[in-house]
Amino acid sequence: MTAATPSSPHVMPTYGRLPIALSHGQGCRVWDTEGREYLDALGGIAVNTLGHNHPKLVAALQHQVTQLIHTSNYYHVPLQEELAGLLCERSGMSNVFFCSTGLEANEAALKLARKFGHDKGIDRPEIVVYEKAFHGRSIATLSATGNPKVQAGFGPLVEGFIRVPINNIDALKAATDGNPNVVAVFFEAIQGEGGVNPMHMDYLREVRALCDDQDWLLMIDEVQCGMGRTGKWFAHQWAGIQPDVMPLAKGLGSGVPVGAVVAGPRAAHIFAVGNHGSTFGGNPLAMRAGVETIRIMEEHGLLSHAATVGAHLKAGLEQALADELTHGGVREIRGQGLMIGIDLAKPCGALVQRCADHGLLISVTADSVIRLVPPLILSTAEADEIIAKLCPLVTALLKEGA
Ligand SMILES: *Cc1c(COP(=O)(O)O)cnc(C)c1O
Repeated sequence: MTAATPSSPHVMPTYGRLPIALSHGQGCRVWDTEGREYLDALGGIAVNTLGHNHPKLVAALQHQVTQLIHTSNYYHVPLQEELAGLLCERSGMSNVFFCSTGLEANEAALKLARKFGHDKGIDRPEIVVYEKAFHGRSIATLSATGNPKVQAGFGPLVEGFIRVPINNIDALKAATDGNPNVVAVFFEAIQGEGGVNPMHMDYLREVRALCDDQDWLLMIDEVQCGMGRTGKWFAHQWAGIQPDVMPLAKGLGSGVPVGAVVAGPRAAHIFAVGNHGSTFGGNPLAMRAGVETIRIMEEHGLLSHAATVGAHLKAGLEQALADELTHGGVREIRGQGLMIGIDLAKPCGALVQRCADHGLLISVTADSVIRLVPPLILSTAEADEIIAKLCPLVTALLKEGA
């Protein structure tokens, strides 16, 4: 029997969708409207931190709905203060602006950087961004993004960006040498959409030192790699550094839209009344989702869990794909904790449907990188199941046309 293909006559076709409509989930499992079960190794693209239908999150959100869903930032929202406090404690930073999405958090970061420049007399501030970066799809954030496909058709782009390759401190110094207009360096600690490309620890420390030296803001987009995914609250913490500005979103609300920009002392007082805003930003439902996500993560030790299960998953993949790694069909398995990229020597978009046919949800990014960003509650047995389902399909794909 051929499954009915859900169609979208009224929704704009901005996504290439699989012919699957999901109806409900439990833990790391989801079911579609035809009753088929899937293991979710995508987690809504690094969003469903606590998996699906987490009893404690559900209870907290149900309670919150009976109190207040939304008010307005014309009034104090005590839950904002609570979530901001939790984020500051865990990042060592000092002040937070709340919004609803990743691009919005990045827009706020870009505005902070520009005003940081203007406040010190730089009229045409410039921000260093990176090849293969992804920061969102608003006009400013797609201009900061390093993927020409994301930008095509939407020019003129926002000006004031200088683009450099990742992990090359000499290239960064050469591109900014003698330029008095530079105000900030902006990157993802681990590039997500660009193919799961981690910044090296040494590089992070070198950029931090350069920013200190030059009085630039170090702005680290942790929208995808943050919130415990790598086994620390924020991926840059592995390098023992602290940014001045840190956009967050995706996993922060475990599925409820929450974005935030966290600022350290150098960026905490740039915005004053009237400089920025967001109608939905920081509403009580969103804040409750953020507060409970963090509380539940700590109650269940999900940071060390993500590190342990992630290491188990990566080692298992390396073992199952050992031949392919030796012969170069698999170029590299990268990432940290539960953010893993399997870089193939050929395009592998076809794997998304094939994995779904075998009951596994994954994504492919940068054409040839399989991305695994499952819920942080993934068990060791579920990690083994990902390996068992995925690796034979990878091997088969690599054999095709070889
Ligand atoms: C997903 C993502 C964004 C954009 O987030 P949206 O919520 O889709 O606007 C920005 N930066 C990074 C690193 C991302 O992974």
